[in-house]
Amino acid sequence: MTTKHNFCAGPCKLPDEVFRKASESLVDFNNSGLSILEISHRSEAFIEVIETARGLALELLELNPNDYSALFLHGGASTQFLMVAYNFLNKKAGYINTGCWSEKAIKEAKFFGELTEIASSKDKNFNYIPKDFEIPSDIDYLHLTSNNTIYGTQFKEFPKTDIPLICDMSSDILSRKIDYSKFSLIYSGAQKNIGTAGTALVVIKKEFLKKIEREIPSMMNYKTHIKHESMFNTPPVFAIYTAMLNLQWLKNLGGVNFIEKVNQKKAELLYSEIDSNPFFKGTANKQDRSLMNVTFTLTEQKLEQKFNDLCQQANIVALKGHRTFGGYRASLYNALPLHSVQTLVDVMKSL
Ligand code: PMP
Repeated sequence: MTTKHNFCAGPCKLPDEVFRKASESLVDFNNSGLSILEISHRSEAFIEVIETARGLALELLELNPNDYSALFLHGGASTQFLMVAYNFLNKKAGYINTGCWSEKAIKEAKFFGELTEIASSKDKNFNYIPKDFEIPSDIDYLHLTSNNTIYGTQFKEFPKTDIPLICDMSSDILSRKIDYSKFSLIYSGAQKNIGTAGTALVVIKKEFLKKIEREIPSMMNYKTHIKHESMFNTPPVFAIYTAMLNLQWLKNLGGVNFIEKVNQKKAELLYSEIDSNPFFKGTANKQDRSLMNVTFTLTEQKLEQKFNDLCQQANIVALKGHRTFGGYRASLYNALPLHSVQTLVDVMKSL
């Protein structure tokens, strides 16, 4: 069992049973006398793992496997910044800029076509989610980042449009009930709510693949990976096994419906302390606050050392804000237990 209250923004806390089973598999995978790290990815045992993980991802997102494909690809969410544009940016795409991850997606997409920034919250250092914006009718897709890991903001509602939606859900996938079928493509680095670093989950509406126009090298082409059932090249075996265990854990708990309630409870507990304790101040616009990454600062800088010491004594780790943003950030991903948040709140009360 891990013993710290780990508020890291990712890689992050995973359920203890996932750590235990994953570590057992390193020594002896399913009593096979082999480690998970030395079995062939073409072995029956691993094919069962990847198929279970792909199936569970769609099941938990409530997406029909006849209409959607789930892939576990290398290169993290960052490779998806370019892959989505390589495949789907034929002429012009629209992007909503809600922070550094959106900006990185924009930068990569510019290699492939024209971009229009539909809306941005840069004017207030990304502390809110833009709301009133018009979506042009001549764009190939609209890209957004559902949860802004660094700034602690989150889309509560998504644009209603016939334009295909592509969403980077790296830091809130599977954390709340939304209609995932509204999206043509969803991608997420695995190292928060899916599993461990080393793979990214990509979910694509099959119908959307018809929009691909250009010639694309095999590894960058979604059709290649779909055709080869996410095994075109050697997949990240251990990361996918860990993802499978973690998705099974979520399903056994009661899926997204259940975890959403837990996540709301954790976030409410912490935000209500931030709002009632005069020594703390939240940094995100209240109505746009993220359930996953809670960002805040101290109102009196002189308390910093004391607060940091109290956190350390309480076994709280990784509460520091992103290096570009400062302050504090408590990441409350699915596997972080309520009692860890209670411990943090107790420390805040004792300041
Ligand atoms: N998008 C978001 C919203 C993120 O939070 C992150 C990483 N924290 C990324 C993209 C980049 O993910 P990766 O490191 O897997 O490329």
